Amino acid sequence: MSLAWIGLGSNLDAPRAHVERALDELHHLPLTRRQHASHLYATRPIGPADQPDFINAVAQLETRLSPLALLDQLQALEQRHGRVRERRWGPRTLDLDLLLFDAQCLATPRLTLPHPEMTQRAFVLVPLAEIAPTLVLPDGHDVASLAASLSEEAPPAKIPPRMLPKP
Ligand code: ATP
Ligand code: CA
Ligand code: CA
Repeated sequence: MSLAWIGLGSNLDAPRAHVERALDELHHLPLTRRQHASHLYATRPIGPADQPDFINAVAQLETRLSPLALLDQLQALEQRHGRVRERRWGPRTLDLDLLLFDAQCLATPRLTLPHPEMTQRAFVLVPLAEIAPTLVLPDGHDVASLAASLSEEAPPAKIPPRMLPKP
């Protein structure tokens, strides 16, 4: 049994609904169950700024899948949410990044572990620290300290349930 952390993001076609549905669907992947889900966070897009804000969240999974089999499942889920790949970092209905898989380090064309950008992104680190406050990355950095140092600059906004935008 392994632990995997998934970063979810959406900024198209009722983003909150895509993220909430995906959190539920992650729980029903083969050989997998979702142990924790963060709050939803509203964040400014990275890359092209002429696109709607993102809704982001992070989930912790317990799985018997291999890292690549899990990536297959995540990409199939993105497809079922109607994701169309256009420009890099452009708007999308659902993005599922495999952030961490146990303490594995991997660099293949299809899969890099840990996710190479995760330590630069407050919208990943803040929700990750919320659900896994004692987690330590394979390089020895702890997620809570990384999140605290990044979110001083640009904290993502936690969305209180009653203020969530209508899907
Ligand atoms: P970023 O990776 O900077 O967040 P992105 O999420 O917009 O950008 P995508 O277009 O979703 O990028 O993915 C591009 C490719 O990245 C995918 O085809 C996938 O094979 C590869 N990839 C490598 N490592 C990972 C990972 N840890 N999680 C998800 N995809 C990965
Ligand atoms: Ca991404
Ligand atoms: Ca991705």
